[in-house]
Amino acid sequence: MYQFGQASKSVLIGVHPNLMRVIKEAIKTSPFDFTIVEGVRTTARQQQLYAQGRATKGPIVTYADGVRKKSNHQPKADGYGYAIDFVPFINGRTDWNADAEFTLIARHIQKVGSDLGIRITWGGDWKRPVDKPHIELAK
Ligand SMILES: [Zn+2]
Repeated sequence: MYQFGQASKSVLIGVHPNLMRVIKEAIKTSPFDFTIVEGVRTTARQQQLYAQGRATKGPIVTYADGVRKKSNHQPKADGYGYAIDFVPFINGRTDWNADAEFTLIARHIQKVGSDLGIRITWGGDWKRPVDKPHIELAK
């Protein structure tokens, strides 16, 4: 049985209670350990990510510019963020290339959500861009 470290717990601050509930339950019975690397984002952080692959180096990771189009990581009208990013924690480190584990953990999170009556969308099911770390409350 896994549990979150202090870093993951801090990142979860400000995340919507329903998503928080799913994630906190999911870690206990997850097939692999995982870390929460992003929760609520400031506008500045979203703009920084939007710049990646455009004004700065790296692949494009988001189509939300943070102002005209907001990310679900940015607080909604109720003050909560509706998305988190996770990374599998394998052999003592976060592994961004653990494709199989990303899928198995994401499906596990969705199953736990479904059992709690909370629908979860996984960014790994998206096409543009595929976003394997991304988990959000379904609309
Ligand atoms: Zn995300």
